[in-house]
Amino acid sequence: MANYDSLQYATYLLKHEQKQNRGEKCKDSERLKTYRAEWMFQRQIDDTKFADIKEAQKFAKRVYKSKKWGKLWKASCENNMTRLLAGTPRVVAMQRRSKTMSGYTDGMTVSLCPISGLSKYTLLHELTHCLGHMHHGRSFRQTLLEMVGAFMGTAEKKILKNEFKRKGLAYGNARKPLTFNKWKAARDRMAKLREKNGKFK
Ligand SMILES: [Zn+2]
Repeated sequence: MANYDSLQYATYLLKHEQKQNRGEKCKDSERLKTYRAEWMFQRQIDDTKFADIKEAQKFAKRVYKSKKWGKLWKASCENNMTRLLAGTPRVVAMQRRSKTMSGYTDGMTVSLCPISGLSKYTLLHELTHCLGHMHHGRSFRQTLLEMVGAFMGTAEKKILKNEFKRKGLAYGNARKPLTFNKWKAARDRMAKLREKNGKFK
């Protein structure tokens, strides 16, 4: 029985970890919900538009020089040592016009659509991906909020946080899993409940 328990607990730990940051180790399942929260956010704020790609590049350089970027960059290297070799992201204009995408990134280069992507928020979104969050899960949103707070303002950060909250999207620290004993107690409690309910069927 003990072996069975530890196997079940290991499965629980794995599932728990995946749930904490959807997109990192499994499907980027919170992408659309995150986009929807962002659209609501963008309706409520006054986003800065860049006149051309040069202005966007200039702004990115300011971001890279900031303390906030340095701190977030360092944190991303702690999670992934290979990132120490990466430089700051390049910002370029998208080669082809896109009807659906204002920007995208491979983690090293940010491509912005010259028509719809030349805005501060679009750039901050893509730069957040470059900080080691190549998905739209919890850690992405947590870092994005820090970027918005530092480079747009505290009022903007509050609005975005509120939109995440309304969609039930987590943006804080990852929750710690239950210890083995607590997990086992909870599992047994559930089993007993199920048994009890079964009697009245
Ligand atoms: Zn994205």
